[in-house]
Amino acid sequence: MATSTRLARVGRECVACGSCLRVCPKGAIRIVSGVTAQIDGNICIGCGKCTRICPADVITIVQRGAVE
Ligand code: SF4
Ligand code: SF4
Repeated sequence: MATSTRLARVGRECVACGSCLRVCPKGAIRIVSGVTAQIDGNICIGCGKCTRICPADVITIVQRGAVE
């Protein structure tokens, strides 16, 4: 079960570079079909490390429940 109040979301402009995968401390991110990163909301703790490393600046931290 998710324990954090925030989680990361990936925007459509993701270029699938894989940088976010390497910094995520929870292993919550994977590349889907070679075209976009996908974050498992049940694992993500909303730490924001992926948002800071993303060269395309497409990851945002949102309040859990606000977009579901
Ligand atoms: S916010 Fe943190 S835990 Fe969530 S996907 Fe990004 S790096 Fe991983
Ligand atoms: S770092 Fe940004 S552009 Fe690269 S795979 Fe992750 S979300 Fe996509």
